[in-house]
Amino acid sequence: MQKVYLDNAATTKLDPAVIEEMVHAMKNVYGNPSSTHIFGREAKALLELSRKKIASFVNVSPAEIYFTSSGTESNNTVIRSCVKDLGVERIITTSIEHKCVQETIKELESTLKVEVIRLNLDEKGRIDYNQFSELITDQSKKTLVSLMHANNEIGNLLNIELISKLCQENNALFHTDTVQTVGHYPLDFEALGIDFASCSAHKIHGPKGSGFLYAKKSTHIKPLITGGGQERNMRSGTENVYGIVGLAKALELCVENMDQYQKKIKDLKAYAMDELKKEIPTIEFNGLSDDLDESLYTVLSLKLPFQDSLIGFELELAGIAVSQGSACSSGAATASSVMSAIYSEDELQNFTPLRVSFSHFNTKDDIDILVKKLKSIAEKHLNVEA
Ligand code: PLP
Repeated sequence: MQKVYLDNAATTKLDPAVIEEMVHAMKNVYGNPSSTHIFGREAKALLELSRKKIASFVNVSPAEIYFTSSGTESNNTVIRSCVKDLGVERIITTSIEHKCVQETIKELESTLKVEVIRLNLDEKGRIDYNQFSELITDQSKKTLVSLMHANNEIGNLLNIELISKLCQENNALFHTDTVQTVGHYPLDFEALGIDFASCSAHKIHGPKGSGFLYAKKSTHIKPLITGGGQERNMRSGTENVYGIVGLAKALELCVENMDQYQKKIKDLKAYAMDELKKEIPTIEFNGLSDDLDESLYTVLSLKLPFQDSLIGFELELAGIAVSQGSACSSGAATASSVMSAIYSEDELQNFTPLRVSFSHFNTKDDIDILVKKLKSIAEKHLNVEA
């Protein structure tokens, strides 16, 4: 049976060129980057070269890039330090952020009594920009705005230029979770004027357990993990040199091939939408995911016009990997926080959400296999004409 992987928002296949670069480093460099002898200096040189490359891809200073274990750690570091060390008393966010942001904010809300405002969302999962523009002018409490650049489940893209401008004008700190967009869109953090952003290598064909945090020099956040003082005291622990080499290579490949990959994946997404509409005419899509310009081109969130709690297993048996929610709630039978935020309880009873997410390794064949299987499942439920 041919296996089909369409769960690239959860994680991606390692690019062979990334593996090659990592293996080369594994074979040749094993010093501890903190050691002052030649072995250590070689490892340190690899680390700093990777940092320099990454910084240039997002147009910031290398001193503003900190290597971490993940998007989760990067987001935790920023949010916790803003409250504990920078005097943030109010957070403006949404109820459709990634869990690592939502759960962190919830904890700070309950333990440190931080005021948390979750913006109103419309039925497409769009934030209320007018509400935001009003709220942000209140400067009575030091404010952190934490809004993701793109939603990992429904793909909605945020107008970060506008949000960043409003934050700057109103002295608020702006953190944006860019885990789903770094490497997929040209991003100039300096020009955008954002304070904090996060990245995870495994979303861009790099290794798991490797990511970075961008923190603008003037922000002075403090570490989440203390110890030996690595990463200029921002993140202790011997650096994951091979993971970092893989991260830099993965980002380099994505940036170098961005136009080509973007075109290929956008075409695949458009093809998937067309085929699905042809074969299951009453299908709809969640959030803005059927708008090629307003959503991640890597994500398509299906709203299948029937309820099927076993659909994940049916697709699994057919060798097709997609997601019923975000990666961390994959396989869960309950509605994800994103679906619960944009639909009523009643509405949730009438459809099955399914996230299909693409990479440049996918082909039209993959889409054809998925559509054929979904059509047969839909026919069982709907009597769709064969
Ligand atoms: N933020 C977003 C938007 C994500 O999609 C993910 C992963 O699913 C994360 C953060 C967490 O990243 P990591 O898996 O590196 O912890």
